[in-house]
Amino acid sequence: MSEGESSTSDMRLVVVGAGGRMGQALIRTIQETDGARLCGAIERPGSPLIGRDAGEVAGVGPLGIAISDDPLPVFAAAEGVLDFTSPAATVEFAMLSAQARIVHVIGTTGCSAADDEKIRAAARHATIVKSGNMSLGVNLLSVLVEKAAKALGPEDFDIEILEMHHKHKVDAPSGTALLLGEAAARGRGIDLAKQSVRVRDGHTGPRENGTIGFATLRGGSVVGDHSVILAGTGERITLSHHAEDRTIFARGAVKAALWARSAKPGLYSMLDVLGLND
Ligand code: NAP
Repeated sequence: MSEGESSTSDMRLVVVGAGGRMGQALIRTIQETDGARLCGAIERPGSPLIGRDAGEVAGVGPLGIAISDDPLPVFAAAEGVLDFTSPAATVEFAMLSAQARIVHVIGTTGCSAADDEKIRAAARHATIVKSGNMSLGVNLLSVLVEKAAKALGPEDFDIEILEMHHKHKVDAPSGTALLLGEAAARGRGIDLAKQSVRVRDGHTGPRENGTIGFATLRGGSVVGDHSVILAGTGERITLSHHAEDRTIFARGAVKAALWARSAKPGLYSMLDVLGLND
């Protein structure tokens, strides 16, 4: 088979939110990944992109796939969905993936506890991989953070998580900051929801021991910078990741779909995909 040709055994993937920053990166990445093939592209009803060729929108030339606003028949003919959209859209798409009993890779961040519950219910029939960050680097970092948080206890080290993203990002703290916070909380054996300080303003009083603090910066075109700071008396350890290109997330998402093709229905994370979950 010559380069660029697809095979009938290639995994048929749909990109939802096809016109978005990540949607376009996903279409480009599918094109350059052996074993994967774009079979559909979805945008919201009323989008000016409906009817346009998905490849042209993503800058890889025509692919013969028109962007549609009707996911049902597109999912029915697919094996997997790549979804970096918004929480409300992702919950809807998860229910459709469950109906079609296919793979659903979710990169969308900012989901509420109620959204996550619906996604967990959909995972009874769909094979869902959900992660606030699909990159190898951040998932490896989360393993290191868990180890560091376990080794350096709350009496001696305070944990703070700092993140910066581009000015268009709508949720805070980022999904990645929360993922790293969860890793630190696991290391400490605490519940992040009960022990996190998400913002500070005004007369806050001294830092409460054992909490995990978050700080958010927004501006320009930053793809994603994260630092986990373990601050002790007289010394400080900083574990950092800098994303320079969205392609790292898109590659991770396609890898997750190919991995999930042979997994049972259920809810998985990138740690499962990367074999880092021991
Ligand atoms: P974006 O450029 O705004 O793209 C989102 C796309 O989804 C837009 O094209 C949007 O269309 C579309 N959309 C929203 N609702 C829809 C619906 N009901 N049906 C079809 N399409 C719909 O945002 P982005 O920067 O690509 O980020 C998207 C999400 O991925 C965010 O939650 C972000 O935090 C997350 N993200 C995750 C990772 C990771 O590794 N997990 C990495 C990067 C980003 P409209 O413009 O018409 O609303």
